[in-house]
Amino acid sequence: LSIRDAVPAACAQIQDFPKPGILFYDVTTLFANPQVFRRCIDELTERFAGTFDIVAGVEARGFLLASAIAYSAGTGVMTVRKAGKLPRDTYTKEYELEYGSAAIEIHRDDIPAGTRVLIVDDLLATGGTLAAAVNLMDQAQLKVAGVGVLLELEGLGGREAIGPHLVESLSIVS
Ligand code: 5GP
Repeated sequence: LSIRDAVPAACAQIQDFPKPGILFYDVTTLFANPQVFRRCIDELTERFAGTFDIVAGVEARGFLLASAIAYSAGTGVMTVRKAGKLPRDTYTKEYELEYGSAAIEIHRDDIPAGTRVLIVDDLLATGGTLAAAVNLMDQAQLKVAGVGVLLELEGLGGREAIGPHLVESLSIVS
């Protein structure tokens, strides 16, 4: 299978989760699949090879990808956390969810300005989450090398929300 077909095939697809009408791609089955997990890590690492100094993972599924890519590329890793978890001064960005809002944070002084950051998460839908992560990097004067995801849901404007940055998704599904 091509990576484009292997990624959705390795996910469990859950109808009506977390709400009626939503088809949820459950990546826990992909993470548990040693061949597909390795292919995904290798592929994302390769697509951004030489362009980043650190990998940022978005809580929580992004952490698993970020850690493995960073290890593979020989870089460090940073965590983009849900609000209220980080003990020191933070940059914070609120963003809209379908109902209500959420906020994510990074520490202010962990990473030097100008560091090139690859941001990763499991899935790109409306792009609200990853656009907020990009905004945090801007606040910290970090350079966004690009955004990498396993799955992109087509037609929700996710790519556009992330603006001019390079977005690499291993698979695009509708
Ligand atoms: P967005 O902010 O782009 O609308 O939504 C993406 C965020 O919601 C990501 O952090 C992602 O983990 C989560 N998400 C939304 N839909 C799904 C889904 O179908 N499967 C998974 N695994 N995560 C989803």
